[in-house]
Amino acid sequence: ALPNQPAGELKCVENPEIIEKEVDILIVGGGMAACGTAFEIKKWADENTKILLVDKAAMERSGAVAQGLSAINTYIGDNKVDDYVRMVRNDLMGIVREDLIFNLGRHVDDSVHLFEEWGLPIWKKDAENKNLDGKKGLKVGLLKDGAKPVRTGKWQIMINGESYKRIVAEAAKKALGEENILERVFIVELLRDKNEPNRISGAVGFSTRENKVYYIKCNTMMVACGGAVNIYQPRSVGEGKGRAWYPVWNAGSTYTMALRAGAELSMMENRFTPARFKDGYGPVGAWFLLFKAHLENSLGENYAASQDAKDELAKYAPYGTAPITPTCLRNHLLMNEVKQGRGPIMMVTSKALQKLGETMDKKELKHLEAEAWEDFLDMTCGQANLWCATNTEPEKKDSEILPTEPYLLGSHSGCCGIWVSGPNEDWVPEDYKWGDNGVVYNQMTTVKGLFTAADGIGCSGHKFSSGSHAEGRIAAKMMVKWVKNHPDFKPEPEMNAQEAADLVWKPVKTWFEHKDYSTDKDVNPKFCKPAGMTMRLMKATNEYGGGVGSYYCTNQSALENLMELFQMMHEDCEFLAAGDLHELMRCWEIFHRIYTVEAHTRHIMFRKESRFPGFYYRTDFMGQDDENWFCFVNSTYNKETKEWSMKKVPYHRIIPM
Ligand code: FAD
Repeated sequence: ALPNQPAGELKCVENPEIIEKEVDILIVGGGMAACGTAFEIKKWADENTKILLVDKAAMERSGAVAQGLSAINTYIGDNKVDDYVRMVRNDLMGIVREDLIFNLGRHVDDSVHLFEEWGLPIWKKDAENKNLDGKKGLKVGLLKDGAKPVRTGKWQIMINGESYKRIVAEAAKKALGEENILERVFIVELLRDKNEPNRISGAVGFSTRENKVYYIKCNTMMVACGGAVNIYQPRSVGEGKGRAWYPVWNAGSTYTMALRAGAELSMMENRFTPARFKDGYGPVGAWFLLFKAHLENSLGENYAASQDAKDELAKYAPYGTAPITPTCLRNHLLMNEVKQGRGPIMMVTSKALQKLGETMDKKELKHLEAEAWEDFLDMTCGQANLWCATNTEPEKKDSEILPTEPYLLGSHSGCCGIWVSGPNEDWVPEDYKWGDNGVVYNQMTTVKGLFTAADGIGCSGHKFSSGSHAEGRIAAKMMVKWVKNHPDFKPEPEMNAQEAADLVWKPVKTWFEHKDYSTDKDVNPKFCKPAGMTMRLMKATNEYGGGVGSYYCTNQSALENLMELFQMMHEDCEFLAAGDLHELMRCWEIFHRIYTVEAHTRHIMFRKESRFPGFYYRTDFMGQDDENWFCFVNSTYNKETKEWSMKKVPYHRIIPM
């Protein structure tokens, strides 16, 4: 709090200070992608290029890697990049941008080598090929010099990653300079140029700690604010409601701000409902891959290995019959068990540890059990707390697994996002690459000068932390190129500073105007509060949009109901009120959430098939329909007319099956 301020959230003043800035390059977000950009960009930019990074939170612990991670899920190493493309394509049921995935695959390892250089402990194998975990501190060389990582799967490597984000953020801050970073500033809206409407020229936001609005003009920008959470009713209730698998501070800002700036979105129908340890949302990867555990239904059957499961997966050939079952289909099999009354589904941790004990001595086994706990402590400490609270000793007591509520993201096992240009290579189809004045700008959206990365890029999931960082680095080079090719641009945003500040501060004005109308600060006929709007949104999407409440099922009538409710929510958002800065942030978060999940709903309505069973079902169009829907679905929004348009975009195969 500022001096002389009462404890608690800082109250808003009626007229905030407006701070104007003008830079060449604006980086919106402070997560893995933005840290990659921040680290890389000064290497390529001229000395006098002005760069600014703006993060809603504090970079050391912002974004999805905030709590740390136990594994880096994308490291190519001795594998082939072509096979990486094949893996991602199969997991996402065939419809991906192979150019973007290949491009990421050939750059991602450099980011991992950088993390290691900065001090991230990566598990290695010793000369006898025995696994060493990072804690032992045994020196076996660096990955970039040929040391072999401990792999839990073909693409994943193990780390001691509790401080992963801190390490990556420190390097980013050092490279960019603290004076070029604004933390705790929430960007609300991207601004297009007055003279060239399909070109970015600025952004507006506000400090979540001071009564200040930031109006920032720029020549080019990257928006990388992660994905979206709390757009559907979470499974957690009551005081546990803040708990979700996805980091609660990513509110769909990337998608909403880009779509409102006119950028084309792609595959927004895709979502991710990860099957995780129930209630704690703890990770399952190490249990499946490192400890070789399996799932059992209430009859004690390993249902995923049954003939019935094989027959079911065959309906989704070639994806379902591939050696690695796609994530959504694994959920689909699990949901089938639950729907048929054979839940709860348990991760059989006890048998897995017993089996490992057969080949290990007591000390080794104890060490392994400690790793199991540490897997949670490294990235989801709430799950470790829950195990303690429920007397769960994994070697004795199994734990329930259940898919979560839906999240929208483009860098984990989902692929919704923004339609961007591929790299400037001969093998990239002409309709997958574009730019300006004959120059191709990789990762540029359909809005000139507006770039994105990681969760922002659609049609190309499975980048994870390392890939997100690498895409940030790629965007850095492209933005520098853009600035060099547009030296004379003078940004004139569609709104001036006062108009932009009025937009941001509208909920505060509403609060001041009507706060005395009622004796209750939250209940007032003249305005609505963001907490209430959030509950409204979650109830509507859960009931009609294929949330957990309907086992992820929806259909045309339900979706039409939801669209009508969105319309009313948009109207009522005009009456959102904020009495303090935290509430102002909540107002803009819910604003961003509503547009994001509306885009998701419109895409689900347009795609008349169930391409991602286990993630969602169109009960009126069950099954995959390759004849009609083997294509991307893209959408655009017109902020002036408030109209959406949807279209199919052809798929081009680059890497043979
Ligand atoms: P993030 O890293 O999430 O960063 C988003 C940034 O945007 C944050 O700094 C946030 O503060 C900022 N922001 C949001 N809104 C605004 C706004 N309006 N204005 C300004 N700033 C804003 N990867 C692995 O390699 N291994 C794993 O084991 C692994 N596990 C994961 C577990 C979970 C639960 C999740 C969610 C992800 C996991 N990932 C893992 C994936 C990895 O974390 C993501 O791929 C990566 O963080 C995405 O990078 P990003 O930059 O797009 O978003």
